[in-house]
Amino acid sequence: MIFDFHSHTRQQDGENSAREMVEAAIAKGLKIYGISEHSPRLPTFRYHDDPPNEVRGARGWDEFLAEIEKLQKEFARKIEVLKGCEIDWLGEENIPWTKDLIQKGNFDYTIGSVHFLGKWGFDYEKDWKMGFSNFKNVGEIYQKYFLEYSKMVSSNLFDIAGHLDLIKKFNDEYPLPKNSKILELAKPALDALADSKMILEISSAGLRKPCRDWYPSEELLAAAFERKIPITLNSDAHSTDRIAENFEAAKELAKKVGYEKAVVFHAKREREFVEI
Ligand SMILES: [Zn+2]
Ligand SMILES: [Zn+2]
Repeated sequence: MIFDFHSHTRQQDGENSAREMVEAAIAKGLKIYGISEHSPRLPTFRYHDDPPNEVRGARGWDEFLAEIEKLQKEFARKIEVLKGCEIDWLGEENIPWTKDLIQKGNFDYTIGSVHFLGKWGFDYEKDWKMGFSNFKNVGEIYQKYFLEYSKMVSSNLFDIAGHLDLIKKFNDEYPLPKNSKILELAKPALDALADSKMILEISSAGLRKPCRDWYPSEELLAAAFERKIPITLNSDAHSTDRIAENFEAAKELAKKVGYEKAVVFHAKREREFVEI
């Protein structure tokens, strides 16, 4: 079975319309396809190049969600389209705002992602370069990141754990200090996942980023398997050609560390285990 639950459209930072993405998913033979556009975000959380004083992505959001529902019906015979959402973890103080967003969106599932440490959007290269020197070293950034990630998981707001080790995105130029151990740094996040009902995504997106690695790395994925954390496979496609990209290799990676099954979602958070 081919599926993919993490993808973006022109509504925010993707290249294609939702319709083009759905048509491409059908052409690739997917049976279940989830569009998980970035949720609107509070204006205090902004990347350097974002326009100020605006809830990013709020313009046209309701119409966009209505369009997904229309596509769900229109293509129901060919593919199961799901209305997902990738939601920023904006800290414990913004849980009420986030809950409200989730409730209003009436999503089939949500992906929880940490793109910000405090107000620092670390995953854009320009912002990373502007912010990393505020820390003692890269190891300290990882430590803060995984603690924040564990809080995101423990909030119980989300279904899928997005790109677990996104913090390594620029590790080609900014590697962890040699004496730092990734398993120790990531332990709070892994432990929180083991205690939660969340599904961990294996994302092929990291392969096309400067780090050139899966999210999560094989080492972290093996630690997730030891903790019996269930997985799914995602591409984080921002264009039609990336949908379900490298999924055969992702399955090999999952099997290599011990997984035999992945979770697929259906409407309204229904989950099903399938062989990989
Ligand atoms: Zn993301
Ligand atoms: Zn994404």
